[in-house]
Amino acid sequence: MSEETTAILLDGTATSKAIRLETAAGVKRLQTEKGVTPHLAAVLIGNSPASETYVAMKTRMCERTGILSSVHRLGGNCSQAEAEDLVRGLNANPEVSGILVQHPLPKHLHEPTILDCVSVEKDVDGISTGSLGTLINGEPGFPSCTPAGIIELMDRYGIAIEGKRAVVVGRSIILGKPVAMMLLNRNATVTICHSRTLNLAEYTREADILVAAVGRAELITGDMIKPGAAVLDAGYNRVEGRQGDVGDVEFESAQRVAGYITPVPGGVGPMTIAILLRNTLRAAGGKIG
Ligand code: NAP
Repeated sequence: MSEETTAILLDGTATSKAIRLETAAGVKRLQTEKGVTPHLAAVLIGNSPASETYVAMKTRMCERTGILSSVHRLGGNCSQAEAEDLVRGLNANPEVSGILVQHPLPKHLHEPTILDCVSVEKDVDGISTGSLGTLINGEPGFPSCTPAGIIELMDRYGIAIEGKRAVVVGRSIILGKPVAMMLLNRNATVTICHSRTLNLAEYTREADILVAAVGRAELITGDMIKPGAAVLDAGYNRVEGRQGDVGDVEFESAQRVAGYITPVPGGVGPMTIAILLRNTLRAAGGKIG
């Protein structure tokens, strides 16, 4: 591939819109055939402006897709027991198809225990221990949203995964680990890199599929990418003096080398909510397609 080559853009905005339209059609069908409307219950604890914004975005998208939504609030100084009871009550509520606990939770709460209170059948965010277990043992469960969005983008652009060498930079429980497991489940050969990896570029240069899930602006530069690779950048970082979010990949140099690349914004980011909506439809017993 020559220096001038420009990668094919993986358009997450258009792809997520297509998934939302498919999901909306699935919601209509479910209503007609079974009289059921999916319902996403969001748990919002404390008053973090970022969490407020995310929940507002998610409920707005539910509305547009025909999914009911409700927000269940607790104050920032609520007890662990109150938070757990709220989630258990939503588990027991037959009107609720899916539960989303918006995180991070206030520091005094034990977040993993609260996330694990969400039953696997309603864990449309896919990040409880039970849901991650289903990802590892291959049983049906809801995939965590951003990792599943990354895989979906590749599928919709016809990027082969089986037999490919995949490198995931980042090993968080919400992103790096589940996306690595999804790639492994699809028969890629997977390496996970992290902050203690020595000579990161030696690994990334071998990758046919490179997933950046780091949270460090432009850590991955074009010279660290194998020519023709599919590069999926989950990062969004604020950089002083620059407008908007900046990815973990230096787009300008990377797009000259990569075969496929996600822009930031408009790549991986919009996929997350689309997968959340689709998971909620499925939790209510609906299907797309
Ligand atoms: P995180 O929990 O902070 O994890 C970052 C990972 O990157 C860690 O595993 C860390 O290694 C690794 N890392 C840090 N510096 C590194 C370096 N110099 N070289 C190699 N690895 C390094 O972050 P996260 O929650 O996974 O999020 C990652 C990025 O994705 C962020 O920019 C976040 O905003 C974005 N994100 C996007 C979406 C979306 O698009 N919808 C959703 C979630 C997150 P250690 O484990 O060794 O510390």
